[in-house]
Amino acid sequence: MGKHILPVYKPSELSFQKGDGCYLLDRNGKKFLDFSSGIAVNILGYNHPHLTTALKESADKVWHTSNIYTIPGQEILAQRLVENSFAEYVFFCNSGSEAVECAIKAARKYFHAKGMPEKNRIITIQGCFHGRTMAAISAGGQKRHTEGFGPLLKGFDQVPFGDHDTIKQFITNQTAGILVEPILGEGGIKVIPEICLKGLREICSERKILLICDEIQSGMGRSGKFFSYEWANIKPDIVTVAKGLGGGFPIGACLTSKKVGEKMTFGSHGSTFGGNPLAVAVANAVLDIVFDKSFLRQVNEVSQYFFAGLEKLKNDSNQILEIRGKGLILGIKFGDETKCEVFVDKARKNGLLIVKAAENVVRLLPPLIISKEQIDHGLKILKTTLEMK
Ligand code: PMP
Repeated sequence: MGKHILPVYKPSELSFQKGDGCYLLDRNGKKFLDFSSGIAVNILGYNHPHLTTALKESADKVWHTSNIYTIPGQEILAQRLVENSFAEYVFFCNSGSEAVECAIKAARKYFHAKGMPEKNRIITIQGCFHGRTMAAISAGGQKRHTEGFGPLLKGFDQVPFGDHDTIKQFITNQTAGILVEPILGEGGIKVIPEICLKGLREICSERKILLICDEIQSGMGRSGKFFSYEWANIKPDIVTVAKGLGGGFPIGACLTSKKVGEKMTFGSHGSTFGGNPLAVAVANAVLDIVFDKSFLRQVNEVSQYFFAGLEKLKNDSNQILEIRGKGLILGIKFGDETKCEVFVDKARKNGLLIVKAAENVVRLLPPLIISKEQIDHGLKILKTTLEMK
């Protein structure tokens, strides 16, 4: 790694010079099938002509003006997100962590504005990941992310995955809301069952607290619905989104209901770059494609095909413990961490890009435009990789 890059990453030697559809070419011209999509970002693959044109056209007009002035593309993008979700308001930012920051601030502000400033604690799930800012690592509460960075932000209570009784016990008159990833991504592709999400919605409604869904990894069609909370037929109060929204161009957003959003009054939050003309031009182009009726149908069809192939792979091998996930956010669970790491490494050598998650799970996050033929290609490499000594 470059000696002047802050040593927080350990990048592989691989470096890509060009991408096309679901494939990447490294600097030696070797071709890789990408089942990681820049960690759930490039939902439309690489070099998508509609996105490239949108970015180029926008670059020829105006790059940046700030939120002091009206940004028409931002208003259009917000309207489209609102029309296709529970939300009434959207705040644009540049990353997932910033969207989570906005969600936490909006939840606290909501109760403060209602004369209940003591309601400022947020319940999260053990093993969750909400980003790397101080608020996001405090929310996640994982030692490997928080160590050395104290004092952490107060006001977060982590509860075990799938334990509604403990959640109920943790709700006090200081609780403002529950923050969940409907599908834990970094945490190991753990799907919160639909019935549990419904249960969480009921608990939040009964106790008059807010349900906040982090859809940064699971949203934008990745689960087979635009937002993964839709599988449970519920409406959250706040949703965070980023990654796939820009298809590779940095943009994040925090969506809120009317009652929550209207408390975020003038001057209470802001961002210099958030919703910048280039970012919203690309995000609008992403939505042109994702909102096409056939898009999610295709994601679900390919997902079923992929799942069946992975189950077969599992049954034919004694190394895989479980296939997890939904839509095209899938995981292969191995017996231990070394197996997982070695597998990712070998798959890379075999021309397939995959990425690790917690709980000895290898994540499969292909671009959402992947075809059955490309899934077959990936499955073949996964099989060869499993059979390698
Ligand atoms: N929330 C979730 C669910 C995520 O998966 C991530 C990124 N992996 C984040 C938040 C943080 O996003 P960013 O890295 O863009 O800040």
